Amino acid sequence: MKLTIIGCWGGYPRKGGASSGYLLEHDGFSLLIDCGSAVLSKLQEYIHPEELDAVILSHYHPDHIADIGVLLHARLIQGFIGEKPPVLPIFGHNMDKKEFSKLTYKNITKGIAYDPVQKLRIGPFAITFLHTVHPVPCYAMRIEAAGKSFVYTGDTAYKDDFASFARNADMLLCECNFYGNMDGKGAGHMNSIDAGMLASRANVKNLVLTHLPHYGELNELAKEASKQYEGNIMLAEEGLRITL
Ligand SMILES: [Zn+2]
Ligand SMILES: [Zn+2]
Repeated sequence: MKLTIIGCWGGYPRKGGASSGYLLEHDGFSLLIDCGSAVLSKLQEYIHPEELDAVILSHYHPDHIADIGVLLHARLIQGFIGEKPPVLPIFGHNMDKKEFSKLTYKNITKGIAYDPVQKLRIGPFAITFLHTVHPVPCYAMRIEAAGKSFVYTGDTAYKDDFASFARNADMLLCECNFYGNMDGKGAGHMNSIDAGMLASRANVKNLVLTHLPHYGELNELAKEASKQYEGNIMLAEEGLRITL
């Protein structure tokens, strides 16, 4: 599996950056995980939008879905000027019927509801879900392929169930929207201490901090997490590519 960080900012994109978007590739299959603000622009540094095979969404906050509409436009316009791309499946939960209904547009995209208690297969990936602690329904994902495991927390406050959900994962892509001296619980987010503690309890092999705050010294996040977790810690940044 190859992971590319397309966007890593919490809430909104930093100047020149993008909010949540992660490209996961394996065996010629390209899956976009979340599609936040400015993701479509940044994505094109790695892949043409019409080449995406599927999209999966953790939840419907704008910093995770803002660019779904323009992704759809890109596929529509590419269909006019070149070869018509196949219908793009967009997987999302259907706890929010209004938002879910927007995922289907003519024969360009098709919204497909995932059942969070079932294992989902998309191309070469096997995906399981965990309901997170967030103001709106949101799901973390554990994605497995070729004997490797990748866990993405989505947006969430700390939750004990993550320790077993992320157990022994090769990589934990963990939201970290606050510094260690801040309490993110009320907002449904983790701080750096939570992220480190989760990585440690789950015994993951690598920790990548994402959904980053727009203030402070970001390296402090990794330093604070390292007090809880002894493994390898990276800060997400646009363009970071990691092979699992
Ligand atoms: Zn978010
Ligand atoms: Zn959110």
